Amino acid sequence: MKTLRLKPGKERSMQRRHPWVFESAIARGGADSGETVRVESHDGAFLAWAAFSPTSKIRARAWSFVETQRIDAAFLASVCERAVRARGLFDLQSDGVRLVHGEADGLPGLIVDRYGSGPDGVLVAQFLSAGVERWKDALADALLKATGLTKLYERSDASGREREGLKPVTGWLRGEGATEMTIREHDWKLSLDIATGHKTGFYLDQRDSRQRFAELAKHRRFRRVLNCFCYTGGFTVAALAGLKAADALEGAELVSVDSSQPALNLARANIALNGFGGEGSGVKTEFLDANVNTVLREFIDQGRTFDAIVLDPPKFAPTVAHAERAARAYKDINRLALKILEPGGVLLTFSCSGGIGADLFHKIVASAGLDANVDGYISERLGAAPDHPMTIEFPEGEYLKGLVVVRKPA
Ligand code: SAH
Repeated sequence: MKTLRLKPGKERSMQRRHPWVFESAIARGGADSGETVRVESHDGAFLAWAAFSPTSKIRARAWSFVETQRIDAAFLASVCERAVRARGLFDLQSDGVRLVHGEADGLPGLIVDRYGSGPDGVLVAQFLSAGVERWKDALADALLKATGLTKLYERSDASGREREGLKPVTGWLRGEGATEMTIREHDWKLSLDIATGHKTGFYLDQRDSRQRFAELAKHRRFRRVLNCFCYTGGFTVAALAGLKAADALEGAELVSVDSSQPALNLARANIALNGFGGEGSGVKTEFLDANVNTVLREFIDQGRTFDAIVLDPPKFAPTVAHAERAARAYKDINRLALKILEPGGVLLTFSCSGGIGADLFHKIVASAGLDANVDGYISERLGAAPDHPMTIEFPEGEYLKGLVVVRKPA
């Protein structure tokens, strides 16, 4: 059995069940990629069983903090089974569900989403650490057993793989079938493609915020909606569903902006799929294949305003090291968006950067308001849906934060 001996004082975070060992904390020891190591404090006391990763700054990720635990296929199967079972605790209102959310579920580096209900459902997995890569076959079998499904598609093409010294891998790992599918979420349907879409195909983490947007649309009967970084149109569909529930579709205008043409094509299809915005519906939908920054500046120049705006940009700051530059980028788009928000209008603004904490994001948005000379109420804080859990031991799990800003009436 191989061991990792930590430097004096470096045992504290693992004693608090934080799952990572940084390269800088290690006094000696090593192993092959993904191999299980015993992590010990400087005086040899047991801390955890962990998967070793020879190239990553996060040199090991804990499987268990229990000394008598054997790390084997049966153990990993029980952890998968528990993660799947835990989803039953939440009322998710969707058949697109995150079943395994990495560290928060005791499976560091593993992401698994299920799309579709019943036996036709498909699992899509990302193996993003040396440990889960080494145990891939056992994990795939365990996941299918825990869900009763037969199909698993691998999307191990996220950038984190490189840091772990792993090459990108995609394709069917178990079974096979169509990669395009349609899921139900709240009161609407959404099509996605697990092979070509972002991440595992869809942004499941924004599910509850889309629902909130639908409720706001229903209550406020939005007339002009701007969905920036719309991807496949989730927030646009949600707004339309809310307007329909309020019988307020007639005369509404919805602009959706993204720089990805395939995403926009799906956004258009998703609106049609839900029966919104066709000929004679009285709804105007516009899709702009453009840079959000440019579009916002154009709208300012044209004096075009909105009573609801969504800003859901990609990760500007993957780590704390990028935080400063990212903060400027977040501030910029928020300042521009606030300038075209009507008095009384609503801005839903998000950051999915792990490197930008909730407090800093709040400050960024506040300073954007100051620069735009727009006064607002922060009426709600938003976050990832509960199938993307945060845990007590792993604060890094809080990556997605959102604010609902209501511009004060004139
Ligand atoms: N709100 C979406 C998810 C947004 S993900 C949902 O609910 O599903 C971020 C999106 O921003 C991606 O679709 C990406 O193509 C797009 N994007 C990234 N940079 C952009 C830019 N500068 N201008 C416009 N779109 C951009």
